[in-house]
Amino acid sequence: MTVTAIAIPMLTDNYSWLLHDSITGATAIVDPAEAAPAIAAIEAAGGKLDAIFITHHHGDHIDGVPALVERYHPQVIGNAADAQRLPKLDIAVREGDLVNFGAAQAQVFDTPGHTIGHIAYYFPDGGILLPGDTLFSLGCGRLFEGTAADMFAALQKFAPLPDATLICAGHEYTAANAKFALAQDPNNTALQARATEVSALRAAGKATLPVTLGQERQTNPFLRAKTPQDFATLRKAKDLF
Ligand code: ZN
Ligand code: FE
Repeated sequence: MTVTAIAIPMLTDNYSWLLHDSITGATAIVDPAEAAPAIAAIEAAGGKLDAIFITHHHGDHIDGVPALVERYHPQVIGNAADAQRLPKLDIAVREGDLVNFGAAQAQVFDTPGHTIGHIAYYFPDGGILLPGDTLFSLGCGRLFEGTAADMFAALQKFAPLPDATLICAGHEYTAANAKFALAQDPNNTALQARATEVSALRAAGKATLPVTLGQERQTNPFLRAKTPQDFATLRKAKDLF
């Protein structure tokens, strides 16, 4: 395994992720909402930043970018199709592209739904998925710009990924998501166990992420929805919950 990811808490419930490639020492930040916590993490990791990966244009995912660019001059990576709403991109990517990071590569998925221009990154080496605000533990992103059909299709793109894949999502929403998930699926013992674990982690001030895709496949109602219609009904119910 070469690529590892560490959660950097930002704002009230955001996670930015510090990526490290152990072969080359390359370092990257994903979705920096703020510069200061990112700088503290980067300095603790050796004081260089090679890349910034952006999943979408919301301020709680990009507002830290300008100060990090000025200080470290990293390559900024984001969706070519949404470039007009993003900080200046050095590498503008599309679905299916492979982005070099150290000795590893990230695969790009187009994942519209939360926003039209949302993308996700997957590192097969290390098994790390960076879904931004597309997929959360026990939940999924709100539909600000795309349709339920868009989001359902976006989540289906993760179906080929291994169960051991680590989901490094953009927010700590798991405790609230667990309440809704349990209301939908009260007899799911894997979900009951996860909800208990989440309560204990949050009571101890710890992150509930990363979580494996295999665990989410057993517990996340949005990954368990079988059809776009089921998914749309579920998403509407969550919005009103
Ligand atoms: Zn967002
Ligand atoms: Fe967000």
